[in-house]
Amino acid sequence: MISKKTLNLSLKSLKDFAKKRLPDETLQELDARDECPVEVVRHMCSPDKLGIQLLFIPEEYGGFGGGAFDVYCVCEEMARIDLGVATSVLATMLGSDPIRVGATPEQKKLWLTRIAEEGILFAYGATEPDAGSDLGALQSTADRVMQDGKIVGYKINGSKQWISNGGIADAYSILANTPSGPSWFIVEKGAPGFKHDEPEDKHGIRLSNTAALSLTDVYVDADRLLGGVEGQGLLQAQEVFGYTRVMVATFGLGAGWAALDRAIPYSTKRIQAGSPLSEKQGYTHKLIVPNVARLEAARAYIEETAERIDAGSEGSLNTEGAIAKYMATEAGNLAADASIQALGGYGYTHEYMVEKIRRDVRITMIYEGTSEIMEMTISRDRWQLHLKTRGQYYHDQARQLEALHARHPNVGADVAALSLHALAEVMERARLGRLTRYQHILFRLGELIAFAECAGSLSRRAARQAEGRLHEKASQRFDPMALAALARVFAREAALKVGEQGLRWVSAAGGVTDADMAAFEAALGLPAIHRAQAGLISDMDYIADVVYSRDVKQVRRSA
Ligand SMILES: Cc1cc2nc3c(=O)[nH]c(=O)nc-3n(C[C@H](O)[C@H](O)[C@H](O)COP(=O)(O)OP(=O)(O)OC[C@H]3O[C@@H](n4cnc5c(N)ncnc54)[C@H](O)[C@@H]3O)c2cc1C
Repeated sequence: MISKKTLNLSLKSLKDFAKKRLPDETLQELDARDECPVEVVRHMCSPDKLGIQLLFIPEEYGGFGGGAFDVYCVCEEMARIDLGVATSVLATMLGSDPIRVGATPEQKKLWLTRIAEEGILFAYGATEPDAGSDLGALQSTADRVMQDGKIVGYKINGSKQWISNGGIADAYSILANTPSGPSWFIVEKGAPGFKHDEPEDKHGIRLSNTAALSLTDVYVDADRLLGGVEGQGLLQAQEVFGYTRVMVATFGLGAGWAALDRAIPYSTKRIQAGSPLSEKQGYTHKLIVPNVARLEAARAYIEETAERIDAGSEGSLNTEGAIAKYMATEAGNLAADASIQALGGYGYTHEYMVEKIRRDVRITMIYEGTSEIMEMTISRDRWQLHLKTRGQYYHDQARQLEALHARHPNVGADVAALSLHALAEVMERARLGRLTRYQHILFRLGELIAFAECAGSLSRRAARQAEGRLHEKASQRFDPMALAALARVFAREAALKVGEQGLRWVSAAGGVTDADMAAFEAALGLPAIHRAQAGLISDMDYIADVVYSRDVKQVRRSA
């Protein structure tokens, strides 16, 4: 475990390094040239320099043994610096994840020690031209090479698409089909028959190297098969999703905040119609405050999931990783988009950086599982829980939030509970009408589930903070009162979304008759959800005051 002091020192060195080596002008030039600063990436990964990867390698292999919470803290900082560089540095973690979960002790010792001691860069080679979201369609093959009736090695053939660090890595985890199914292999750079293409010309994260790989009769010894047993590859990939998706979630969170943290100070200086933009409610309450609330809801979920992963007792937390990724990356994307708007014409130019952040953050909704695949993953899993508990899964969670509300009446837990009760009703209607046979309904449920769960999470986080019980490494950007206001704002959004969108989609798929509509509306608690919107504007006013560090509440009605 990394101490808070060590983590803070690492974060500080990272910030200092970025300030010196990656100022805005350098980032802009590299972005324009579409160039990965390989030297900077190697410096960050080098054990005698920044050695970021040391934080994540277990102590027995020469690292500091950081956990998911540490990954979250570091990834957020990396994303705030540059998402392309963050992708390059963290690709080593992704690439070594199959080793972490699936390798034999000897393989772990060899490869994790090399990452720790030599700072070698890894790449994660799963995606293929015809196998993206559906990795089961994998076509790369690994044929056994036999000697005296024993498997001595494998010959790998195939191609990989969109591989981060594809052109600069020292070693690659490659997923290929053995006779017993998909399996991970380690292939080193320079292996005969192993080639990478020129870097892709991308929309964003242009500071990361992304390249296609081709493998023609690439021979590896049998000890390069991770875990030593064929056919474990997809299981191993699944096992790390909780962890890796929290990592990409944090990229969305960090990039979203990086954009807002440019828009917020800008708006205090930009005078229009006689006063700063920051004083105009029509500006702050559309472009800043809702994005702060969504990002902090995603943060609450990320922190909760990271803590549970570190506690280590609950399996892979795949679905929680998916919810964290979905909410944080969608929120990061919206925040970056709103930040362009917040800077007006200036936001649309390269110089002010928000357009670059907006291009960069877009990838987080695609790689490590697209948003739609997240919706499907979330929905399928929670659907099973709904069935297993005979429809009580979300009612139970709502009741827990009602109990929380009794202890902490100002953290929005009552409204988060409304969203969860409504969700349970929507899912029950979907069950009765067999509506999940419509893929769109299944996916929309995934979205509603993610919003409702995050509302609960942010209320819990606000309550914990009020009790002084947040994780010692948790973000302290907002004080308990501000976090409570954020929780109330987000809970209202989530409840309205679940109530109204739930009604919409159940109705759209024929899950409710005219005669039954009034009863369904009542079961959803729509009147209560609508009444709960009261007070939203004053909560938003308060959050704007906090975000802009204003002591005195001001009325912002200027045009
Ligand atoms: C810059 C970059 C870096 C990357 N880095 C890596 C890396 O290091 N290693 C690696 O292995 N991969 C990497 N990837 C690949 C990435 O993970 C895939 O692009 C992603 O998983 C989506 O796969 P795809 O591109 O084939 O899209 P597709 O799977 O073809 O999806 C296209 C669209 O269809 C939707 N869709 C797909 N399936 C369904 C379905 N069943 N139902 C409904 N809608 C569906 C998707 O949500 C998406 O909107 C990277 C990609 C990029 C662009």
